[in-house]
Amino acid sequence: MAVREWLETFRDDVVTIDAPVSRELEVTRHLLANPRAPVHFRDLDGYEGVGGLWASRARIARAMTIPEEGLLDAVGESQRHPEDVRLVDHADFSANESTDFDLRDSPVPKFYPKDAGRYITAGVWVAEWEGKRNLSFHRILLLDARRGVARIVPRHLRTMHGQAQAAGQELKVAVCIGLDPWLLIGGGTSVEYGVDESRIASSLKRRTLGQPVECVKLKNGLTVPADAEYVLEGRLTGETHDEGPFVDAVLTYDRVRQEPVVEFERVYHRQDPIFHMILGGSDEHFNFMGMPREPVIRDGVSKVVPRVAGVRLTEGGCAWLHAVVAIEKHTDGDGKNAIMAAFASHTSLKHVTVVDADVNVWDDREVEWAVATRFQADRGLVVLTGVRGSSIDPSAGETTAKMGIDATRPLTAKPEMFLKATL
Ligand code: MN
Repeated sequence: MAVREWLETFRDDVVTIDAPVSRELEVTRHLLANPRAPVHFRDLDGYEGVGGLWASRARIARAMTIPEEGLLDAVGESQRHPEDVRLVDHADFSANESTDFDLRDSPVPKFYPKDAGRYITAGVWVAEWEGKRNLSFHRILLLDARRGVARIVPRHLRTMHGQAQAAGQELKVAVCIGLDPWLLIGGGTSVEYGVDESRIASSLKRRTLGQPVECVKLKNGLTVPADAEYVLEGRLTGETHDEGPFVDAVLTYDRVRQEPVVEFERVYHRQDPIFHMILGGSDEHFNFMGMPREPVIRDGVSKVVPRVAGVRLTEGGCAWLHAVVAIEKHTDGDGKNAIMAAFASHTSLKHVTVVDADVNVWDDREVEWAVATRFQADRGLVVLTGVRGSSIDPSAGETTAKMGIDATRPLTAKPEMFLKATL
């Protein structure tokens, strides 16, 4: 669906700003002032933009016509059972196609004062190599009229780029902006290499709305979602450039790295397109970064304990570094096994708190209550040192330390000692 149609669907939540807003920093002030609302910029230096459109899980669930509690199951099922997309002939973004463009004449914003420049943040990259298709998010710093430098974390796109370079080729890519939530979830999903995340998105859409994702073939041969607002077609080159600083999920400035330069050849966009931006460290960022990992953690922990009642990557932990996992415990060792399984299933995880199923993982106060009343540091604490962690944690070195808190109640003790009194 077009972004404009989503804004209409959620019109009661939308903050519309008709006055001119500068794409340099001023845009961030509005997004920070409205952290959970879609902020619709009608005049972003002459362009239209939106941020925070998917800042609430309730809106994501509503778009998929499922209850919010069903989101994790739906995402998990679609990750386990990807389905084909439907190839169609027409995309609305084909209405405007150009090889003569300047990326700087655009709504692409600069978010924070010490950011290296203007960044595309909601772009889902499509790439294909040796019959495998990959979807993934990578921020892009604009360099000039046709080039950008992208933070390509060492995952699947990096692998494809490396293999293409080794074969003496430049990897063809397409960056899609203004996608539907199932595709943004697909873009934020990283399963094993070779699994096409557009098939995960298609499965998610079919499971919830009864229809597959529709894709079209671009001039460069790549197949991309037909509903995008903008599509940038290009190549990932062998050239590298300084990338960063940039404020990412942890709200600090990510350091400068040498990253690959992307060169664009063709830009497509809808009639009156709305540019989607995701502010680093916002709830909208977390929904497409952390949320798709929650079912993966749940699956991992489910292999070692009888039942997992809830999984949450917490906002304070940047929806990436800290998790709370609720389990139904059958033996006293289950809490610690759950800790180890959580670390194994999400390698960036730094701290995990395991609680019983009677604790609501979404309520920080309840989780702390469980730690206060059911945890003893000399028995329930697991500390691992020298483990691979996350590059986004500024306090980590080459390796990191990890901490697990087993805040489940001991099965040998009388339950009434540990259960909350009720009326
Ligand atoms: Mn992938």
